[in-house]
Amino acid sequence: MIYLDNGATSFHKPPAVARAMARAMARCANPGRGGYGAAMAAAEEVFRCREAAAGLFGCKPEQVVLTCNCTHGLNVAIRTLVEPGDRVVISGFEHNAVTRPLHAMGAKVEVVARRLFDWEEALESFEKALKKKPKAAIFTHVSNVFGYILPVEQMAWLCRQYGVPFIIDGAQSAGALPLSLDGLGAEFIAMPGHKGLLGPQGTGLLLCGRSPQPLLFGGTGSESARQEMPDFLPDRAEAGTLNVPGFAGLAAGLAYLRRVGMENIAFREQMQAKRCVAGLKKLGFTAYGGPCQLGTVSFLPGMDCEEAAAMLAGKGIAVRAGLHCAPLAHESAGTLATGTVRVSFGHDASDGQTNQFLIAAAALH
Ligand code: PLP
Repeated sequence: MIYLDNGATSFHKPPAVARAMARAMARCANPGRGGYGAAMAAAEEVFRCREAAAGLFGCKPEQVVLTCNCTHGLNVAIRTLVEPGDRVVISGFEHNAVTRPLHAMGAKVEVVARRLFDWEEALESFEKALKKKPKAAIFTHVSNVFGYILPVEQMAWLCRQYGVPFIIDGAQSAGALPLSLDGLGAEFIAMPGHKGLLGPQGTGLLLCGRSPQPLLFGGTGSESARQEMPDFLPDRAEAGTLNVPGFAGLAAGLAYLRRVGMENIAFREQMQAKRCVAGLKKLGFTAYGGPCQLGTVSFLPGMDCEEAAAMLAGKGIAVRAGLHCAPLAHESAGTLATGTVRVSFGHDASDGQTNQFLIAAAALH
């Protein structure tokens, strides 16, 4: 199989990830819940992951809250900054993991930065919205549909200038593009462990620039005599037993990234995205490409998108079709009625993958 659905989750993980998970299952009990060897071994595994994440993402280990996925982290972050009726600014490329929690809490949402691959429009419309003093701003680093890299450094700078707290959704950039909690001054940065960070499903990270409101309440192994959740991190936002094998695997994924270098992964993905867009255009399809694009490409085949993805699956090519849980991004790009077929490269992106995909795609007319 040629796996080109890394936007959903990474599939070909470094072998060290599964090894670390098996090792954790063999030697770890519950972290923070006992002083005996197996409990201490679990605490060490978890801390190793927190420390590696802190080193990669510009914060202290205790600012790294371990979550189930990116959605979990975004919900904690949004619950902390936004109250019902608050005005919030978001980009036109947000995932349902941002828009649904905002909708559920009755936030008033202003959507800006709606033009694909257009930083000037993004920054102009964003600044205009910030002048109205919204309660918070939330923006994705990279669109999961189009691979569009938003100008997050400049957007973060604008937020700091206007005193607007902000959340970054790093779901599609973590593991490929630089992200620093301290450097950007974000309140929160949420990311999955199972995509570009190469950990297993059921893992995610929430980097906390401020103390979050707990989403779950329960045991933490600390301050057990009190009924309030601890007010210190990371315990405040980590109720219940952690996914120790998962975070042991994620630590191995982070170690791999450090060794290979995120900039090298970004380069490989971007090279293949460019080749893919050019190849698709040559075949006569509408393909969405631009100057600020990571490793994800959307295109319109000459037929129904779901049918096209099924045809590609029949030839051993794994891509995704439809709205990709981001109807807002499609609305912004004008593809809401049709959806798109999405090709998303990962850390193992290669010429061979792109060539095989293009050979198969040639039959989609
Ligand atoms: N945000 C973006 C931009 C995404 O692409 C995704 C997943 O595809 C999410 C959030 C949610 O991530 P998770 O599935 O880890 O909750």
